Amino acid sequence: MAAVPVASRIASLLVVDDSAVQRQHAVALCRELGIESIYEAGNGSEALELLAMLVLRPSLMIVDLEMPGMDGVELIQQMHQRRLDIPLVVVSRHDTALIQSVETLGGALGLHVVAGLQKPLTAARLGSALARHSAGDSVAPEQKQRMLAPPDKAELAQAIDRGDIVAHYQPKVDIGTGIVRGVEALARWQHPQKGMIQPDNFIALAEQEGLIRALTMSILGQALAQAAAWNTRGLKLSVAVNFSPLLLDSPGIVEEISALLERHSLQAGQVVLEITEGSVVAYLGAGLGVLARLRLKGFGLSIDDYGTGFSSMQQLARIPFTELKIDRSFVHGAHRRKNLRVILQSALDLASRLELVTVAEGIETMEDWRLLQQFGCTIGQGYLIARPMAAAALPQWLKSDHQRLRELRAEPLPSCLD
Ligand code: C2E
Ligand code: MG
Ligand code: MG
Repeated sequence: MAAVPVASRIASLLVVDDSAVQRQHAVALCRELGIESIYEAGNGSEALELLAMLVLRPSLMIVDLEMPGMDGVELIQQMHQRRLDIPLVVVSRHDTALIQSVETLGGALGLHVVAGLQKPLTAARLGSALARHSAGDSVAPEQKQRMLAPPDKAELAQAIDRGDIVAHYQPKVDIGTGIVRGVEALARWQHPQKGMIQPDNFIALAEQEGLIRALTMSILGQALAQAAAWNTRGLKLSVAVNFSPLLLDSPGIVEEISALLERHSLQAGQVVLEITEGSVVAYLGAGLGVLARLRLKGFGLSIDDYGTGFSSMQQLARIPFTELKIDRSFVHGAHRRKNLRVILQSALDLASRLELVTVAEGIETMEDWRLLQQFGCTIGQGYLIARPMAAAALPQWLKSDHQRLRELRAEPLPSCLD
């Protein structure tokens, strides 16, 4: 009965499993669920070869974690590197903690993990995972947008020149008090025909095509102008801007940023540059000088997406960071998942030993917010507080959400009541 909706939305599927018996079992279940076009591969390398050959990619993949040769985890990492964002169902004989950690890894790499299922697969469990997926609730709008015609270099260059890439701002809030401390500027492309395009669809292109410096300077310029305007209205907020690692060896970058700061008569201490953890280690040699000079000038430096980059404490301790920003894949759902809580706590512990400000991103629920309060995280950011918004919307949001921000405060001790 579940076959009709599942089949109608999943045009084709790839099963990756080294055991022929298990693979046939999965294929039979998928057929039972009404999926007609099913490909098979015996390990990760075979799957990648097949994907490279197919003109139309499968709509979904079922990936076994344990396989000889390239295993499921490595396959997920390879898919990320090759920008193959096909939704995945991961399956394993192992316990749910291992499956959950692979789900987390997939999420952290920006891949869409529909479900993690323990073997043996059953029609009921697979059916309900696929039905959830086909109902569309699990396909993010950004992912749908990625399926449209991708933008090209000329289009992006023109958009940067015309000022069509605009900064939106997401509040960063003090977790103890609920007070707004700052905002993160996030690039949005206001495309005249395609509507609002999210950064995941054009930042990598800007990096590949030598446009990232122009794009970053445009966002930084808007963010600094905005901060200066808010300052004059008595609203002193720190502004964070994402800083591509490619800029770490871009000649004259420190001077250009400093000049921009002076133009807006701002102090460097009001500005934070966020650099993703994975990239910073890869660029450590060339980038250390630029980071040290920015820090000496007083800019805040944040390690973004912490937890996704596999860097060691020794590597991080060499970089003059001021803030550790924990990736949302370790924050979302931490209240109910023990392995995430352990990672969160150890990241917060590491940060406090390095005397860094801690920021948790991707907070969507009150339960996760309260947990972060308990754990002593300093700053929180996420949809629970606010989604990124245009600059003009921020003052109104601040007014209307006053009450709500108060609810976010740490519970007062009984003796402090009244
Ligand atoms: P990021 O710097 O880690 O930014 C946080 C992302 O998480 C933003 O996505 C934000 O909208 C999203 N987010 C915030 N709260 C929540 C939440 O509660 N739940 C969920 N699911 N998501 C949440 P966005 O704006 O799509 O940006 C994606 C990434 O693109 C950014 O990740 C950043 O790495 C990059 N990016 C954005 N703007 C720029 C830019 O101006 N320059 C560069 N180099 N990269 C940028
Ligand atoms: Mg960021
Ligand atoms: Mg981040």
